[in-house]
Amino acid sequence: ADLPDPDVVAARPDDVRPPEPGPESDKYRRGVVGVIAGSGTFPGAAVLAAGGAVRGGAGMVRFASDAHAVELVRQRWPETVTRVVEPGPDVLAGIGRVQAWVVGPGLGTGERAEALVGAVLTADVPVLVDADGLNAVSRSDKLRRELLCRDAPTVLTPHAGELARLLRVDRDAIEARRLEHARRAAEELGATVLLKGSTTLVAELDRPVRVNPTGTAWLATAGTGDVLSGLVGALLAGGMAALEAAAAGAYLHGLAARLASGREGREAPISAEDVLRALPDAFRTL
Ligand code: AMP
Ligand code: MG
Repeated sequence: ADLPDPDVVAARPDDVRPPEPGPESDKYRRGVVGVIAGSGTFPGAAVLAAGGAVRGGAGMVRFASDAHAVELVRQRWPETVTRVVEPGPDVLAGIGRVQAWVVGPGLGTGERAEALVGAVLTADVPVLVDADGLNAVSRSDKLRRELLCRDAPTVLTPHAGELARLLRVDRDAIEARRLEHARRAAEELGATVLLKGSTTLVAELDRPVRVNPTGTAWLATAGTGDVLSGLVGALLAGGMAALEAAAAGAYLHGLAARLASGREGREAPISAEDVLRALPDAFRTL
């Protein structure tokens, strides 16, 4: 286990409160998030990631993927602006301006995922890479170089298995020394690293690591991570810096899960959908 460390701080509500809209706000200034997620095998991840962005306070969510994922997202989130994209030159052309990208949930493995992640990494705005987007980076030295070349902020949201592949170490080593590996990933990949699991850590070079105090073990269920990636994407698009957006996203996500799960001191199983539905309550509680 990790030893006590002065360079580790618990995230506090005052430090993770997202900016609120005011009279001068409009949807573009609130922040436009671009979400690229979903595949034939995992179309639901697209719906959950897009939902996290919608409920995370984005002014607008643009969603791009294959025709099936686009259709599901349109049905569930009619407020999104969608586009069917095929990997190829200029995949992002025609999608319109976005202030932050989220790429990866349910993207699947293979060339399509690599092409889509590669396209997003060249964008000059904050990018969050999750799930199969991270797995694509683990497989491809070219993507790893593109990640390292980025000037705009990058947020990576791995669980222990995804981080093990990124760092090419055993998953057990990550679980035994989570803090050390989160820091190492932030340094080696030049990114803000949100390591998910029983305690969520957010690491960034030369900043104290944020330990997330919210959450519940009932979050360990499929789809909740996809909600988190959309949520953090919305906070990035709204103008929060990478470390703050990641810490705030983890905080709100864990709070939403607790609000959805707990009543009268007892907790019950929850779905990713329940976390999405409780996000407004989490924002109000904060
Ligand atoms: P993913 O691994 O992408 O499916 O995301 C799972 C979500 O559940 C993340 O937000 C994790 O931090 C959270 N989570 C997973 N296991 C636990 C646990 N044992 N206790 C609390 N939260 C967890
Ligand atoms: Mg995941």
